[in-house]
Amino acid sequence: MAKVKNWHLKREIEYPYEGSRPKKQWAIIFDLNKCIACQTCTLACKTTWTSGKGQEYMFWNNVETKPWGGYPLAWDLRILEKLGRQEWSASGEYQGKTLIEAAPPTERVLHFAPTDEDWMYPNVGEDDCAGGNVDGGAHMASLPHDKWFFYLPRTCAHCTYPACLAACPRKAIYKREEDGIVLIDQSRCKGYGECVRACPYKKSMYNPYTRTSEKCIGCYPAVEEGVQPQCVVNCIGKIRVMGFINPPWRARDDNPIDYLIHKKQIALPYYPQLGLEPNIYYIPPIHADREYLRQMFGPLVDGAIERYKELESDPVAQGLLCLMGSTDRIMHRFTVAQGSAAGFDAAGAELVRVPVTENIIERPAYDAKLGAIRTNTP
Ligand code: SF4
Ligand code: SF4
Ligand code: SF4
Repeated sequence: MAKVKNWHLKREIEYPYEGSRPKKQWAIIFDLNKCIACQTCTLACKTTWTSGKGQEYMFWNNVETKPWGGYPLAWDLRILEKLGRQEWSASGEYQGKTLIEAAPPTERVLHFAPTDEDWMYPNVGEDDCAGGNVDGGAHMASLPHDKWFFYLPRTCAHCTYPACLAACPRKAIYKREEDGIVLIDQSRCKGYGECVRACPYKKSMYNPYTRTSEKCIGCYPAVEEGVQPQCVVNCIGKIRVMGFINPPWRARDDNPIDYLIHKKQIALPYYPQLGLEPNIYYIPPIHADREYLRQMFGPLVDGAIERYKELESDPVAQGLLCLMGSTDRIMHRFTVAQGSAAGFDAAGAELVRVPVTENIIERPAYDAKLGAIRTNTP
């Protein structure tokens, strides 16, 4: 086993291969305070990539309601239970074992295998509230709320240390040097399903028709053209932004992804304790139970939520949040100045410019010039 650096855990971890970070690393940030579970992202991916035979049950992008939802059933609870104690030191170093460190001697990754039935209920638990029924809005009195749920959109995390890749006996899975996207070479895959069992996020899926495993491809044909993935550009809530993340020691404040993750520290990886350095990041929901969120996002979640709540006084971060969903192109750099936020491509050309605060225009109910009443309730 090699020792590799995992900055999510602030320590070295064991991994079957030597660590080699790609030149660029694909990443998506999701603002969970804004997701409305419209599933447009799910269908955008489905109609683009998984409408073929054997792919009927596949949702490379799915949106589940937490805490009760999960596709496949209870995927996260089951792997967390198997992993056992997950503790962090006061300085934020993970002190438990990762899935690879906890693997039994005959396995490469601690895992569980979903059954066919586990894949039958993509919308299980949808809109089910934790803490009992909502009664007349009483749950709104406190923050976090006593009664809560939130929506969790998920894709493959194109992990820095993928469990799927570690487990594949055919070396059919590889991580691209140019963008960090993790792909399954369909000509090498023999459908053993080791990746399906090993991926804790359950984002590698078996196709019984082709008898190979398949997974989210990060929309690499679009990314190669400088365009964000289908599930990102079609997001109705504008809760997502895709770009390239640098590790903390190479972070750039003018990179939109680095800014939210490293500079503001309001976007966090999910289940970092599993040890894969996943590259999808979440701005946590401010209203949900903190213990639950600490389990899901680690010990930095309280600070992330407090900083998110203070963004009202941070025009730069506000401007960046306004840029989310404003262009289908990948933003490599952003600026915020004089009330407008702008995104730029890799060559430095301006892609988009938006106002940080929309102008409010108040019009009188009666238009004297046209002699017309503007509303039907003068
Ligand atoms: S999320 Fe799962 S399928 Fe995707 S790279 Fe990580 S381990 Fe592999
Ligand atoms: S990145 Fe592309 S392939 Fe992956 S879930 Fe999103 S739309 Fe699907
Ligand atoms: S399209 Fe956006 S808002 Fe709608 S469910 Fe997907 S992530 Fe949430």
